[in-house]
Amino acid sequence: MTFSLSDGFDSLEDFLDARAPNEPEFHQAVSEVIDDIKPIMDANSDFKSANIFERLVEPERTVSFRITWLNDKNEIEVNRGYRVQFNGAIGPYKGGQRFHPSVNPSVLKFLGFEQTFKNALTGLPMGGAKGGSDFDPSGRSDQEIMRFCNAYMQQLHHYIGPDIDIPAGDINVGAREIGYLFGAYRRITNRFQGVLTGKGLSFGGSEMRTEATGFGVMYFLAEMMKTHDDTLEGKSVVISGSGNVATHAAEKAIAMGAKVLTLSDSSGFIHDPDGLDQEKIEWVRAHKAKSGTTLAAYSEKFGGDWTKGKGPWGVQADIAAPCATQNELDEDSAKTLLDNGVLAVIEGANMPSTAAAKSLFRSADILFAPGKAANAGGVAVSGLEISQNRTRRPSDAEDVDKDLQEIMSKIHAACVEDGTRDGRIDYAKGANIAGFRKVADAMLSQGVG
Ligand code: NDP
Repeated sequence: MTFSLSDGFDSLEDFLDARAPNEPEFHQAVSEVIDDIKPIMDANSDFKSANIFERLVEPERTVSFRITWLNDKNEIEVNRGYRVQFNGAIGPYKGGQRFHPSVNPSVLKFLGFEQTFKNALTGLPMGGAKGGSDFDPSGRSDQEIMRFCNAYMQQLHHYIGPDIDIPAGDINVGAREIGYLFGAYRRITNRFQGVLTGKGLSFGGSEMRTEATGFGVMYFLAEMMKTHDDTLEGKSVVISGSGNVATHAAEKAIAMGAKVLTLSDSSGFIHDPDGLDQEKIEWVRAHKAKSGTTLAAYSEKFGGDWTKGKGPWGVQADIAAPCATQNELDEDSAKTLLDNGVLAVIEGANMPSTAAAKSLFRSADILFAPGKAANAGGVAVSGLEISQNRTRRPSDAEDVDKDLQEIMSKIHAACVEDGTRDGRIDYAKGANIAGFRKVADAMLSQGVG
């Protein structure tokens, strides 16, 4: 690399090994950005002298806290909670919270780093953050979820606020959990504030926030296909996941004329050759909302095949949309998709493709959209929810949906502008450069101290 790292580090790997040891997901997220932004840094002596890169990969603040709570057997359980406030240069920290046993500092730093770029791409004033807990909600009663949320907020409320940090949901944190977290915040602080997004409509939530990420994914895909004079009409789609992002992506893909063949969960995937429809999607949502369920019951109800312990990438389709979790799509799966003639891969989840899979997609003659651009619709509508809370004036669904489409279209245009080379659009490069420029310019303007 031409730009220099301080303290004599020769390579990015040495630097990350020293500064962030044992954080593989975080290393992966940073490595995916560096090659794209290196030329921008090399060309700008101000970025170099302000040491922007080293500042950009260090979270501004990380808090970790103990959560003690009572389970249904009256036993005290102990979990760990975190908030990584990654970069606040362009606005208050903003990003989701994940409750999953895999949550650790490396996962949250990768998510917070990606969120910083994603939020910049939306064009709204939001810094990047991420948080959550290693709490596993699977098999827990509703009362246990509520007691856990109360205990979690007992700690988290010290670090958030409408002008400080406004968390949202993520894996296993949906409308129910946000409701409990908001109630806890209000009771602890005696303040009714727009301190969380994804709230219920009766207490300050925005229309379309639930749908926004999955719908936004398909709006972005439609924009990409338009560059090839194509549409989703008649296309077959394989989707992974069966949560918020996956089911709303499926719903919008179907509305745009596509045939959705698969969904998955952490136990396996269903393949429905007839294609999903609204009734089947509603059933999946209701079924998965019950604690500890798998999709195995889908094929008993609607037919099709259930395959245990695998992702859906072996099913031939025109479009693949990984919408479950990080690193769920590996190099072999990427090769299978490409061998099967996939036209487009659109990441609904955050970093769902491994580094090797992503590099195959980026060099193949297909359309490839990285999560930080394609799934930005969720945080974009969260940004609109913040504005509605500020003015205490809710917007109707039609207006929010219109704004969402416009924002996804602008993100697409930004990726095209910064990612086009020799007539080919590299969306990953475009997203990295456009996001970096905005954050780096703001950091430069604000000096150090
Ligand atoms: P949900 O909790 O609603 O759904 C998660 C889905 O992923 C479930 O089907 C779950 O299966 C599956 N899953 C979780 N872990 C694994 C695993 N290790 N292997 C296979 N499947 C797994 O989460 P969301 O839909 O909200 O989030 C999905 C992805 O989208 C995440 O990467 C998230 O960061 C990203 N995202 C979410 C946004 C949002 O607005 N919600 C915004 C932007 C990005 P099971 O039920 O069996 O656990």
